Amino acid sequence: MEMPAPNSMVLSAKPQIVARLRTVLPPDAVIEDAAETRAYECDALTAYRCPPLAVVLPRTTAEVSDVLRICHEAGVPVVPRGSGTSLAGGALPTADCVILGVARMNAVLETDYDNRFIRVQSGRTNLSVTGAVEQDGFFYAPDPSSQLACAIAGNIAMNSGGAHCLKYGVTTNNLLGVTLVQMDGTVLEIGGAHMDSGGLDLLGVICGSEGQLGVVTEATLRILPKPEGARPVLVGFDSNEVAGECVSDIIKAGVLPVAIEFMDRPCIEATEAFAKAGYPDCEALLIIEVEGSPAEIDEQLALIKAIALRHNPVEFREAADEDQAKRIWLGRKSAFGAMGQINDYMCLDGTIPVSSLPYVLRRIGEMSKAIGLDVANVFHAGDGNMHPLILFDANKPGDLERCEALGADILRLCVEVGGCLTGEHGVGIEKRDLMGVQFAPDDLEAQLWVKDVFDPRWLLNPAKVFPLAVTASRRAA
Ligand SMILES: Cc1cc2nc3c(=O)[nH]c(=O)nc-3n(C[C@H](O)[C@H](O)[C@H](O)COP(=O)(O)OP(=O)(O)OC[C@H]3O[C@@H](n4cnc5c(N)ncnc54)[C@H](O)[C@@H]3O)c2cc1C
Repeated sequence: MEMPAPNSMVLSAKPQIVARLRTVLPPDAVIEDAAETRAYECDALTAYRCPPLAVVLPRTTAEVSDVLRICHEAGVPVVPRGSGTSLAGGALPTADCVILGVARMNAVLETDYDNRFIRVQSGRTNLSVTGAVEQDGFFYAPDPSSQLACAIAGNIAMNSGGAHCLKYGVTTNNLLGVTLVQMDGTVLEIGGAHMDSGGLDLLGVICGSEGQLGVVTEATLRILPKPEGARPVLVGFDSNEVAGECVSDIIKAGVLPVAIEFMDRPCIEATEAFAKAGYPDCEALLIIEVEGSPAEIDEQLALIKAIALRHNPVEFREAADEDQAKRIWLGRKSAFGAMGQINDYMCLDGTIPVSSLPYVLRRIGEMSKAIGLDVANVFHAGDGNMHPLILFDANKPGDLERCEALGADILRLCVEVGGCLTGEHGVGIEKRDLMGVQFAPDDLEAQLWVKDVFDPRWLLNPAKVFPLAVTASRRAA
């Protein structure tokens, strides 16, 4: 993975830069010791690492503004960081950067049930947003599998999704407003505690902008009343393609489950060994969950069952109670951890039209055989968001490179069938060099203009998202 050479002037000015940062932050909020900055050398894409120049952990928007103003004046790149769970290397440091971590900014600022919103500091973890309102019967819908750890800041930057986003939409559909600090320290309020706002849709530009345009310090989020009930079913199939066809038919029939999750045999076996959820011995399984009143649940499940039976499932298991529902979800929720126990893996993230699922699954199988690396599939099938996990051995010379090559081919395939390079994990450094597969040079240039407006000196997260060659002149200037 190519990264730009660090700016030697910034490296040699480290003592002065740290001293200036200490004038605006408490002593424990500036980390410069090499042993401690190492904790920030990577995110969840652990294949790539680089300790930063320094780390700052502000607690307020005013402190963030001061830090950014100082870095702007000194020409120091800044990499915003939430909880560091990015699988795309979005929070990977450069040696000359200051990591601006928002983990200490985790307060609930306002809760308004009448108008159904909550305002939080952006370092608050996803799950603890629901934790703050669930006693009153509300929840925050986007639910990345990393929700125990990941921060709202990272969710907004990556426009994160999750298992239940088939029904409720991803972060952008549940975000009402943000406080954003620009690289020169200017504080902007975008959107608010209401649907839509006048003027251009700047909130839509910020959500998914991967820390390129500003640092999000506060967020206003839509909260929803908890549904009356929910019930999952587990359906096992004897081939990936047939499971894919079943997903496609459910979506075509117009039923809207809250989630349709897919796991293939390698994933089923790994999670069974790890979580012992009692999954059937089959090639592929779907977990389909519906919500509503008991009558609504029965009606939706009857339709889903009728569609599933047309595909001759090897098993159709409906949760009879809360305990069985938890067991159905247990394996899916442990899938990433379970795979990590048996192998190094790279988790891809592309989207495809749902109707292409059977074809794409077959092609991934063929490509995996051809290159000699196993691929396990676990993903949000209902919205065509694929997460092939490529298994490799990080200690075996050449394996990482083969894994990267296969990953690139799979993502090219997603674009080829009319999909997209990323569904929810973002571009980061992982897919940076593939952006040309999806966008023509003019399209890319138009995206660079947006960054020029928000961050004219190209100091925010500068080596991410766009191929280095197309940003070289801007970064050098
Ligand atoms: C086991 C596992 C499961 C996962 N499952 C899912 C899933 O189901 N769905 C999903 O969408 N993702 C998933 N992810 C990926 C990851 O959790 C998400 O991308 C998440 O939103 C990242 O949040 P974070 O706080 O950790 O951000 P970080 O990793 O710290 O940063 C991510 C990006 O956000 C930027 N950023 C961080 N803070 C700010 C800020 N304050 N202002 C502006 N930009 C900022 C960073 O610069 C970086 O580009 C998973 C990851 C793991 C490890």
